[in-house]
Parts: sequence; structure tokens; C-alpha cells
Amino acid sequence: MNDFIYEVPVERVSAYRGRRLIVRAHEPATLVTALADEEFERLVGLRLLSLAADSEPLNAWAPELPVDLVMADPGAEFPLLYRHAELLEHHPVRVMIPVRPGFARAVKVAVSLHFAVWLEPGQPEPALIEELAEVMAFYLRQPTVAQPVEFFHSTLLGFYHDDPAPLWVVLDADPECLRHVADEGAESLPGRLAGVEATVAADADLGEWIARVLATADECRNCEFLPSCGGYFKWPRRDYDCAGVKRLFGLLREAAAELRRDLGSAPV
Ligand code: SF4
Repeated sequence: MNDFIYEVPVERVSAYRGRRLIVRAHEPATLVTALADEEFERLVGLRLLSLAADSEPLNAWAPELPVDLVMADPGAEFPLLYRHAELLEHHPVRVMIPVRPGFARAVKVAVSLHFAVWLEPGQPEPALIEELAEVMAFYLRQPTVAQPVEFFHSTLLGFYHDDPAPLWVVLDADPECLRHVADEGAESLPGRLAGVEATVAADADLGEWIARVLATADECRNCEFLPSCGGYFKWPRRDYDCAGVKRLFGLLREAAAELRRDLGSAPV
């Protein structure tokens, strides 16, 4: 039997007992009730889908279990982050922010409150590429930023250590390891791969997925950033123009080289 991590709605936890789970809910209190008998070692994390909800029931419950705060409309919801700041005293918490107009402000508020940030970049159009470049500069240059902002953080480290991880791993969409369970119970590949029919063996590793399914476009096969991207930005629209995201990868590669130079010239 495979050992996928299933991202499931709280109402379907009983059907996945014994599996590794990320459990999502709109109301934190329902998580505490539904998971009261769960083996916490099989729980990988919690996902809170409504920032308007009261997260206080999670504060003293399952300490150290990672919690994701999922934003739908970052331009409007960022003030709601303040009410969840206490979660950080009990859990690692990251804010999942979709790259939509105005998302930069949500990133800055999240970072100022000491939340880690996880960006869902979608397939960003030129105006959003500029906003992403602005947020990247903030992440790279602002000394007060102490928390990771993904996908910048892991991609930067990948360039720095010459050990890149594809965005499928960095952004929790690895088809080798993860499955999404819809509210009505249907299982699918994770994230932007939802609805894609798998054409690889059930035990295929991510390298095989990338070679045979995820990065089959000629542009990907010849792309200098394939090891860091894995074809991620060609989904779901296969004709997406990658010029802007290649610029972002290039900026991160330059920043890693600069960091290496700075550390190399630092006195020992
Ligand atoms: S940046 Fe674009 S072309 Fe390059 S690997 Fe990623 S999706 Fe493919």
C-alpha cells in the first residue's frame, strides 16, 4: 500500500483513519472535536480555511502540529491575520497566500507578525510578475524578514547549495506523495494537477513524473531552470508564457551567487 499524505476535509477523516493526513476545516472547533481520537503521529498538519474563524480552540491543542492559514482574498483578508497571532506560541504556522492583485500587502503583514509565508503563484500575468519581484526584493533585502517566504526561500537555498528542489516539492504539489480529497470525497492529484489522468506507474518517483508528464514541453526540456521548477508553471495552461517566471528564477540565482560571494569574503 502506498503511503500518500491525504489532504482531507474534516468531515471525511473517519474514512482515512490510519493514513497520514492534512485535515482542513472552516471552523477550528470542528477539528478539535473530530480529531480527538486520532493518533497525532499520523497527522501531518491542519489547514484553516476561514480566517474569520476563531482559532483559539487550537491554541492549547496538539502543540507543535503545523497549522496553515489559507487566504482566499489576500487584499481584503490581511487584517484578519492579527487575530491568529497567538497560534504561533503553540504551533509552526504558515499563511498560504494566492498571488492575486494586492497580495504583497498580505505578505508584509504576515511577515511582520512572524508567520511563515507560502505563495500559491498560479500562472502569473505580467502585472503580478512585477508584484512578485517586489515581494522577492522585500524578502531578500529587508533585514527584518526572519521567516521563510516560499517559494523564494527554498529556491534560493537550492541555487545556493546547488541542490535544487522542484516547485512540486516546495509548494506541496508532489504527485509522488500527496493526494487531495474533495469535499464530496473524490480523490485527485494535488493542487494544479487536479483532474490530470496519471500516466505513470503507481510507484513512480517525482523524477519520473517530471520526465514523463510534468515537464514534457520542449520549452521545459531546454529550460535552464528545469531543476528548480520541474515544469510547474506549464500547469494547468500548457501555453503559459514563462518569460516572467524565468526572470524571477534568474533573480533568485543571482541572489544566491551574491550570498555565496559575501560569505566567501567574510572574515573567518
Ligand atoms: S520555467 Fe517554464 S519552461 Fe522552465 S521548466 Fe518551468 S514551466 Fe518549464
